[in-house]
Amino acid sequence: MTILVQKFGGTSVGSIEKINKIADRIVRDLDQDNRLVIVVSAMSGETNRLLSLGNDISAEPDSREMDVLLASGEQVTISLLSMALIDRGRNAQSYLGDQVSITTDNQFGRARIESIDTENLRRDLDDGVVPIVAGFQGVDREGNLTTLGRGGSDTTAVAIAAALEADECQICTDVDGVYTADPRLVENARRLATVTFEEMLELASLGSKVLSARSVEFASKYRVPMRVLSTFEEGSGTLITMENATMEQPIVSGIAHTADEAKLTVSGVPDVPGVASRILSPIGKAPIEVDMIVQNTGADGLTDFTFTVKRGDYAKAVKILESICKDLGAREVSGDNTIAKISVVGVGMRSHAGVATRLFDALAAENINIQMISTSEIKISIVVAERYMELALRCAHDEFGLSE
Ligand code: ASP
Ligand code: MG
Repeated sequence: MTILVQKFGGTSVGSIEKINKIADRIVRDLDQDNRLVIVVSAMSGETNRLLSLGNDISAEPDSREMDVLLASGEQVTISLLSMALIDRGRNAQSYLGDQVSITTDNQFGRARIESIDTENLRRDLDDGVVPIVAGFQGVDREGNLTTLGRGGSDTTAVAIAAALEADECQICTDVDGVYTADPRLVENARRLATVTFEEMLELASLGSKVLSARSVEFASKYRVPMRVLSTFEEGSGTLITMENATMEQPIVSGIAHTADEAKLTVSGVPDVPGVASRILSPIGKAPIEVDMIVQNTGADGLTDFTFTVKRGDYAKAVKILESICKDLGAREVSGDNTIAKISVVGVGMRSHAGVATRLFDALAAENINIQMISTSEIKISIVVAERYMELALRCAHDEFGLSE
């Protein structure tokens, strides 16, 4: 007997028709001798709708009450799906986060799961009941409702799979797996049969939207086998696995991109201790998240300092830098909010030299200017003008033979 945790995202439960289809799918899987725990998101668009209601009534919505509001989306889908299964003659029961109980810390809006009481779930599995659990929510030790951050249902599913030691955590979604690149931009992108946790974590953090990075981190920590697959189409999807020493790893497994980036440069700053900290600490306090950071080798006692932020934070970051520019003794602040980041990821990079050069040569041949570069053991990220993003993606995809 196999225990599977299956998570259905917002688009999969976006209408009554789709919820009915999921109920049929679940019945099919139950008839194949699987025991299932189901986790669902709110109907597509619902969490955004709730968020804007909160922002409409208050300029700075109270974070506890915001979580009460946001958590209501999933309450709708767990009950509807349970009804659909009961109508099909199956035993199903819905659970809110606190009924399971999924205990989290008390950071509203981005709570972390601390423990899950599996008693109800195990009893249901033994009794042939299908538990339908609300994703994205939990309860803190004082009994307050909490939410886990956007995309948090993936993490709920992984955490339940870990607690139950399930055979697999299946993330059922509107795409049929993880691709070598976004198939909407790279037409010969290919579905990966497997990808390692490390690679998936990089891809998810660097722009791939299929899985939330936090859920991948969680799954890798607890060694939960995770699979991404299509909700409504047959197929084996993409299995996320531990790295296998005997397996020949491709040099590059996939390419992620993000278009909503911006860069800021403070030029002519005195090259003395403490400058990076004086530039970045007001940014961090704003709070604005900083991604890539590059500082030039100093010349004549001066240096240039460049970093990237999300495009939505650009105007705020420019303002902050302009206000400290004089104090820093810097020459000027400049920036560009029409850049994109492309990241080439693969565990095989560890054992192969010259991967970066291959990428740079390929981009040079297309006359694409690289504005910033950062590397780690298994990835190379570059910043290019946004208008070259698609071309750069295709060019890197071809260079590393990812469509074969
Ligand atoms: N409904 C929540 C969101 O949109 C959680 C999720 O979909 O995973 O972020
Ligand atoms: Mg979602």
